[in-house]
Amino acid sequence: YPLGILALQGDFAKHADTLSRLGVSYRFVRTASDIEDIAGLIIPGGESSTIGKMLVSTGLLDVVCDKTRKGLPIFGTCAGMIVLARELDQTEQPRLGLMDITVRRNAYGRQIDSFEADIETKIPGIPTLRGVFIRAPKIVNKDPEVETLATFEGDPVLVRQGHLLAASFHPELTTETGVHRFFYENVIYHSP
Ligand code: GLN
Repeated sequence: YPLGILALQGDFAKHADTLSRLGVSYRFVRTASDIEDIAGLIIPGGESSTIGKMLVSTGLLDVVCDKTRKGLPIFGTCAGMIVLARELDQTEQPRLGLMDITVRRNAYGRQIDSFEADIETKIPGIPTLRGVFIRAPKIVNKDPEVETLATFEGDPVLVRQGHLLAASFHPELTTETGVHRFFYENVIYHSP
């Protein structure tokens, strides 16, 4: 089965480029029927409140929640992490709420909205990677079963909970493919 890339709003085309470089087939997901027979779903960066509203208006919100509770793996980047978060600490907005993390929107870079930094990871074979942060969300709390796979300045920026993976940064905006490969090879095929 191909991977699904949620293509309602945001930088979904960049995820498609990354999957193409990896040789992984994909399908853009815009309606509830697009979600049949996919191996996993990527939720891109963008504007999380818009993505959340569109998940509601397309009917995808309930369908994705249902599929994910039955095992559909999800990888969310930046806005995609916000959409996955169970709790937001300053605002409320429609979202999937499936991952046991609390997230603060736009919490990095008070003076500058965007920056790049080398971050250390626990992914086998990827000791460091270049993190692109764009008005990035910060994980301010997480349940113990959420595993930290990478940190920046001591805060988790890449986390996994079973078949859910979320990054504060944008692995789809660099030429690196390691985080997508990890999702495809480890999270999808070795989900507990
Ligand atoms: N700040 C955006 C939001 O809150 C996320 C930014 C991004 O995805 N680059 O939705």
